[in-house]
Amino acid sequence: MASNSFALLEKLCNAHGISGYEDEVRELIRSELEGVADELRVDRMGNLIAVRRGDEKKVMLAAHMDEIGFMVKHIEEKGFLRITPIGGWFSQTVLNQRAFVHTKNGKIRGVFGCKPPHIMKDEERKKVVKIEDMFIDIGAESREDAENMGVEVGSPVTMDRELSGLGENRITGKAIDDRAGVSAVVEVFKQAECEATLYAVFTVQEEVGLKGARTSAFSINPDLAIAVDVCVATDFPGVNVNQEINLGKGPAITVADASGRGLIAHRNVLKLLRETAEKNDIPYQLEVGEGGTTDATAIHLTREGVPSGVVSIPARYIHTPVEVIDMRDYRNTVELLVKSLERCEKYMKF
Ligand SMILES: [Zn+2]
Repeated sequence: MASNSFALLEKLCNAHGISGYEDEVRELIRSELEGVADELRVDRMGNLIAVRRGDEKKVMLAAHMDEIGFMVKHIEEKGFLRITPIGGWFSQTVLNQRAFVHTKNGKIRGVFGCKPPHIMKDEERKKVVKIEDMFIDIGAESREDAENMGVEVGSPVTMDRELSGLGENRITGKAIDDRAGVSAVVEVFKQAECEATLYAVFTVQEEVGLKGARTSAFSINPDLAIAVDVCVATDFPGVNVNQEINLGKGPAITVADASGRGLIAHRNVLKLLRETAEKNDIPYQLEVGEGGTTDATAIHLTREGVPSGVVSIPARYIHTPVEVIDMRDYRNTVELLVKSLERCEKYMKF
């Protein structure tokens, strides 16, 4: 495992930041790119934009800083917290997890509690518990106690899970969606030699509606854009879709996502990515997705339209605290992007 890549990924995944509260992640990226970028700025939405000046053409890379999480909506009299999900959770993955509640006095630990099987009725055991019926136990004995610990309505909640190796080539943790993309874009920005002016945009609020991508693309007005994210791998038991995205077989290049309702990748961008992979013997997989989408969906509809594409790192168990990716795919993603930027100029003639 390339230790430098792992060290950066580890820092980013172990940092906490739900949509709208990406500060900790933004500071980590800033410290990586300070002195490397010609310009480093934060816009009004909170997107961090790193610029490397080249000619008048503009290329934008985007990776989202936010992770899915929760927000405290009510503190009960006995000190339990009720929460609302921020981003797409499957409720069954949430139960009995350890979490952090981020308060004005710093982060405190909590657990998603539930009834033990001993006192469940038969029909209860068969049911999925809804998030609205869940609560977080922070060890408080009353509402006042919880408030004294710094909790208030609006406090963000994230999962308590540290990044770890898994087997020889893989890693597991929370927020790999999309800190793996963030980490890749940081590495690409440091390495890439690009004739055009390069904008690496670390976006906010992707998980709740691609918001930071929309506003940053409008202000940058790029000639070509690539979103860097994770995509759903389908190579584990119980997956019944007629599509094959495997871990370890290279980055996925999106042809279309959300059955075309999200993004239909621009033909030039698709060509750039595929030809670059083939020229450099970088393995890749083509993806036609039916589910999720990425920042590219918002970017490509900006102003009069921005030719856009997506490079994704295949990930298992997306939107859980045990997401898994293969570091070989991660490194090939970095290489594919670096090499694509070196030769993207001729794909920007429309
Ligand atoms: Zn994502």
